[in-house]
Order: sequence, then C-alpha cells, then structure tokens
Amino acid sequence: AAALISDNTTFQAGVHLMGKDTSSLSSFPRLEGKVAIVTGGARGIGEATVRLFVKHGAKVVIGDIEDSLGTALADSLAPSTTYVHCDVSIEDDVSKLVDTAVSQHGRVDILFNNAGILGSQTKSKKSILNFDPTEFDQIMSVNVKGMALGIKHAARVMIPRGGGCIISTSSVAGCMGGLGPHTYTASKHAIVGLTKNTACELGRFGIRVNCISPFGVATSMLINAWRSCGDEDDDNEDGMDCGDEVEKMEEFVRGLANLKGATLKPKDIAEAALYLASDESKYVSGHNLVVDGGFTSSKNCVGL
Ligand code: NAD
Repeated sequence: AAALISDNTTFQAGVHLMGKDTSSLSSFPRLEGKVAIVTGGARGIGEATVRLFVKHGAKVVIGDIEDSLGTALADSLAPSTTYVHCDVSIEDDVSKLVDTAVSQHGRVDILFNNAGILGSQTKSKKSILNFDPTEFDQIMSVNVKGMALGIKHAARVMIPRGGGCIISTSSVAGCMGGLGPHTYTASKHAIVGLTKNTACELGRFGIRVNCISPFGVATSMLINAWRSCGDEDDDNEDGMDCGDEVEKMEEFVRGLANLKGATLKPKDIAEAALYLASDESKYVSGHNLVVDGGFTSSKNCVGL
C-alpha cells in the first residue's frame, strides 16, 4: 500500500508540474472490489499480473499446475489471493477454478487466460519436416483448448451478472510467422481468432473479450527454450548459467527489438492486462493489444 501511495504521489506531482488536470487520471486503485482469475499465475507474466491486480485492489484466484510456486505466491499475498490447482486443458479443472472463485468471492469480473506452453525448440524439432503430431495436440490442448474452456466457463458465470472482462495471452507469434515454432505460432494465431469470435458472441451480454500479444519477455518459457536450443546447437557456445540467465535473455531480446532504450519486463504485460481489465477500457473489445515496441510493424524485424 505504501508503494502504491508513493507511486500515486509521484505520478500526481509529475502531472501537476506539467500544469494539467489530475482529477481523472489519478483514480487508483483501478480494480477495487473486482474479482479476477489468472491462469498460469504462478510465475512469469501471470505472476506479475497477479501482483499488479492485487496492488490495484482486486481479489485474485490463481489457477496453475505449479502447486508449490502458486501456493507460495498466494500465501504471500493473502488474504487477497488464493491458489487452485488447475490444468487448463482439463475442462473439469477449469470449471472448478471458476466455481471456486464464485464460491469464495460471489462472482468473477475478470479472467486473465494466460497459461501457455511453447513446446520443444530444439533444432531438430524446428522443421515442419519433423512435425510431431503428439506435441501438436499437447500445445493446442493448453494454448487453444485451455483458453476456449476459460472463456466458456467465465462466460457461464458472467452472463447472469450482465458483464465481465476476458483477456487471453497471444504473442507476436500470433501476428506473423517466423517468430516461434510452427505449432506455437499456429496456437497463438488461433487465440486472436478465438478472441474476435467470442467478442462478437459475448458483446450482447456486456462481456468484453481481448487479447495481448507480447514480444519476448525473459521468463522461464524463453529461458528454457534457450537452454533446449543449446542442448543440440553446437554453434551456441554461449550457454547461460543460472545467475545471469534473465539478463542475457533480456540482452538478446533488446538486440532484436525495434524500440531501443527499453527492456520489456513481465510487469509491462501486466500493465496491458490491467488496462484491458479496468473500466478505462470499457469500450474496447475484440482487440489484440500488441506490446512489442513496434516490432511487428517494422520492416527490419527478424525471427526470434
Ligand atoms: P512461464 O512459463 O513463465 O509461465 C507460464 C505459466 O503457465 C506457468 O506458471 C505454468 O506452470 C503455467 N502452465 C503451463 N501449462 C499449464 C496448464 N496446462 N494449466 C495451467 N497452467 C499451466 O511463461 P510466460 O512467459 O509467463 O508465459 C505466459 C503466457 O505468455 C503464455 O501464454 C505465453 O505463450 C505468453 N507469451 C510469452 C512470451 C514471452 O516471451 N515470455 C511472449 C509472448 C507470449
């Protein structure tokens, strides 16, 4: 709370110095009284979003399969946060996650459908000639079916209340080719389509549906991918050790980025989710909020 007040004070002072009206802009916290579910909330982008949503007054229920990480995070933010084991590819788990949020808090205002997996990045698996149907089913099951199940069950409890907000995590790999493995790219394109179609269907119930497409963020997902590339890639002699993995990954991503002078962090994606979850975006639906520093708009972009 102290950090929040201090942030807000600094923010207001800055705006005051610019000689502008601060009254409408200083409306913190932005999710007061709201109930949110965050899937894949135990670490990475999901964890940053859980922390930011709680800071802005929300009650958050985390759904993940990393039970010890999820429980520790929820305990550290109690009583605002609870943890539920949920494999998003299993309908019963997703249904129970939503029902738990309703039984604990009476309703669900926000679903951040964020759990996702990348799949194997080893050199031999990168080619379509080595396409692995089993892995395809696993990735689609989490990244696409999991998101569709989230939307289905969130909408089930949002419709009777006359509104809600659903956000899914796509990727820059959902905007163009050449940025990730084939199946991951297909799955992230599917999320953009799912978002648009469900926004069409659910708009009449007052439910907004959007997605976010991040550029590279140095989370476990990217770092593990880097490691597994190194397993087979003899050219990659610059293998990372534990201490500097995040820094090295950020440096790698900065090298590819279009926007210079900034490093994309999990919190930057959480800020995009906060905007889409808050009333400030009350008329935004069916939108893909690309958080990539202009990467996918740049003619110079190269594959990750
Ligand atoms: P991460 O691996 O750190 O976090 C993913 C979380 O999802 C983990 O907590 C994991 O346990 C959970 N998860 C995985 N499978 C699950 C399942 N079946 N059921 C429930 N939870 C499950 O990765 P991240 O970077 O934080 O990824 C979050 C989302 O952002 C993913 O959808 C990812 O595709 C997307 N994304 C990431 C990047 C990036 O560069 N890191 C870029 C674009 C999009």
